[in-house]
Amino acid sequence: MQLQTILKRLQRHKSFVYRQAPFWDSDEGLALDVAVQPRVNGRPICSGCGQHRPGDDRLPTRRFPFVPLGGIAVFFVYALRRVDCPPCGVKVERGPWAAGQEHVTTTLQWFLARWAQRLSWQEVADVFWTRWNTVYRAVTLAVLWGIANRSLEGITGIGIDDIPWRKGHKYRTLVYQIQQGCKRLLYVAAERSEESLRGFFDMLGKTHAAALEFACSDMWKPSLKVIAACAGQAVHVLDRYPVRAQMNKAIDAVRASEAKRRKADGHEPVLKHSRWLLLKRPENLTDNQTAKLKELLQYNLKSVRAYLLREAFQRFWEYRSPYGAGRFLRDGCAKVMRSRIEPRKKVARMLRSHEELLWNGFEAKGVVSAGSGEGRNYNAKLTMRKAYGFHTLRGVKIALYHRLGALPEPQFTHKFC
Ligand SMILES: [Zn+2]
Repeated sequence: MQLQTILKRLQRHKSFVYRQAPFWDSDEGLALDVAVQPRVNGRPICSGCGQHRPGDDRLPTRRFPFVPLGGIAVFFVYALRRVDCPPCGVKVERGPWAAGQEHVTTTLQWFLARWAQRLSWQEVADVFWTRWNTVYRAVTLAVLWGIANRSLEGITGIGIDDIPWRKGHKYRTLVYQIQQGCKRLLYVAAERSEESLRGFFDMLGKTHAAALEFACSDMWKPSLKVIAACAGQAVHVLDRYPVRAQMNKAIDAVRASEAKRRKADGHEPVLKHSRWLLLKRPENLTDNQTAKLKELLQYNLKSVRAYLLREAFQRFWEYRSPYGAGRFLRDGCAKVMRSRIEPRKKVARMLRSHEELLWNGFEAKGVVSAGSGEGRNYNAKLTMRKAYGFHTLRGVKIALYHRLGALPEPQFTHKFC
């Protein structure tokens, strides 16, 4: 079978034909130049208005990289025509295989973008003999197309997360759809602020906001305010993750001051290297760390008591009825308030003042997947790390939407990967 036949099957362009395809040796290895020619009487399309216009004058011949076939780099070789267009003036024709000023075929761009969901952008560039910037442009194309063509119908549950992105308490706000069976990133806000979150509701529009049944977030006041204003009918659910994070903050504060005091008093430094033992989930510890933690828990320390309290609180999420959970919460908080450990008391006060949000969780059980905020945050951080190489907000946004946005793609005659 001839290459031209294969290409015609993979990528047919009505007004163009594939001609001779000689091999040549590029710096990266074997390459193929596929000459493309317009059909006789085929008139070029003006890149300004999209209309067929006359034009025979040619620009210099150019190579447009296409998807590599069998490890061989493939280029479409073509000299674009100059178009004489009455409304637009003299323009360059629009070739059907590349968009606008792109030097790369659209098919290759979608191919690279799809690989960039599995590999880091630099890895994609290395494997397919291209540059990081080309991969970035390809991913951007995929994201912009996906966002313009995604549907916002039927969103009933959202989760609002904040992820730190720089030292010094800088946060970005990410909004996800978190219904059963549909989890995807909907919105990335530059910072954690009331205005940023309003940006999400502006994007969503009033009709879709009115269809929201649940909104899951932390207890940060501006978030609560915006949700109440833009989707007042939605039941507000407290996410497990920020509750745990608050408790960890308290444990850390207790541990730090206790370790300092013990050192000053000349006690045995049992709390040395204990930070992560106490903060990580027990199931995430290594065997060695588990053994060390077991040893540490033998001591009668404030840090240990704070740790045990957090672990005991996990039971709260397992209650099936608000009644039992309510008693559990009230008893627990009362006990903490009697203690003299200020960081713990702060957490108890916070839980008490947001009791209602905790109850809402029971109503939402099975409808939204609350409590998955930690997993979402992990994936978002991983994505930002994998797409390293840029520092702009736009780059970060593109990477996050691409990886976590579950964006749609156009229909292709052939999927290359
Ligand atoms: Zn025109």
